[in-house]
Amino acid sequence: MNDITPITLPGVASKRPLIIAGPCSAESEVQTLDTARKLAAMGIKIFRAGIWKPRTKPGSFEGVGAVGLPWLKRVKEETGMYTATEVATVQHVEEALAAGVDILWIGARTTANPFSMQLIADALQGVDIPVLVKNPVNPDLELWIGAIERLYNTGLRQIGVVHRGFTSYDKHLYRNLPHWHIPIELRRRLPHISIMCDPSHIGGSRALIAPLSQQAMDLGYDGLIIESHCNPAVAMSDAQQQVTPDELANILSDIVVREVSQITETLSQLRQRIDNLDNDLISLLAERMRVSREIGHYKKENNMPIFQAHRYDEILTKRMAQATQLGMSADFMKTILEAIHEESVQQQVRLFNDK
Ligand code: PEP
Ligand code: MN
Repeated sequence: MNDITPITLPGVASKRPLIIAGPCSAESEVQTLDTARKLAAMGIKIFRAGIWKPRTKPGSFEGVGAVGLPWLKRVKEETGMYTATEVATVQHVEEALAAGVDILWIGARTTANPFSMQLIADALQGVDIPVLVKNPVNPDLELWIGAIERLYNTGLRQIGVVHRGFTSYDKHLYRNLPHWHIPIELRRRLPHISIMCDPSHIGGSRALIAPLSQQAMDLGYDGLIIESHCNPAVAMSDAQQQVTPDELANILSDIVVREVSQITETLSQLRQRIDNLDNDLISLLAERMRVSREIGHYKKENNMPIFQAHRYDEILTKRMAQATQLGMSADFMKTILEAIHEESVQQQVRLFNDK
């Protein structure tokens, strides 16, 4: 897929970052036009708005549907901005194309479904417009690349991707975990593809948009897709993560875009891996403490003492040998294990003292 072309649009400067902004959903003609006019006035060239919204539960606002397409047409005519919306079915594709929508995106839930992807790809046969493929909801790079490949095989060449983060069962700072190493690996595999970051859906909160955007720029991303609503407080979807056009202007003006030389890119990629590994280490430690507390409960119920020297010796000896085999010093491993053991004992002591 070496001939995938970067997203370039007549009249849109090709300098980083390419910005796509607009509300999560088109809710009414007034809201759509009001937001669009404000964004156009600050120089935004590509307007996003969801017409069909994939929602977790039925009964939530599922988008206005095709009645909103003429609103996007008006946005185009009045402001000159390009328009973009999400398509998830063949009918969406046909209706969006008929209404003159300029850019289509595939939502995270659709990317994860090969049947839907194939139907959409078939419906796009012979069409030459930019299509953005959001990462699948699950952290599966092959599934993401497979979706891109299905579009590519029907002849599309203007394909870009959107990194919007990955779902996880546990609660986190982020609404969707970034797993930065996945888009980084995608860039290595498909070096010409435009990569956009969607800090709104990764962070799930306004406050995280700026730092995530900066991080994306430092990693050499080509653009950002950010949700912006004329009145976020009353947004019918994703209210927490939308910013007003004025707030967006501030966020964008604070972003520092460094020329990503190979060296700094490599360095920040490596640092990203370290950050990811540290996160994994912390989660693993937390899990270890949970198990340790379970053991504590067992000992308490069975009137056993917390500290059992023989077990501790065994752990220490085994792990120190493992560490030496993996190129770390036995002393280093001893220090770490002692610290972990200490915390573990403390957690069990607290539990013993609980009434
Ligand atoms: C969206 O862009 O509003 C959206 C629903 O995105 P995702 O598919 O990333 O959840
Ligand atoms: Mn949204």
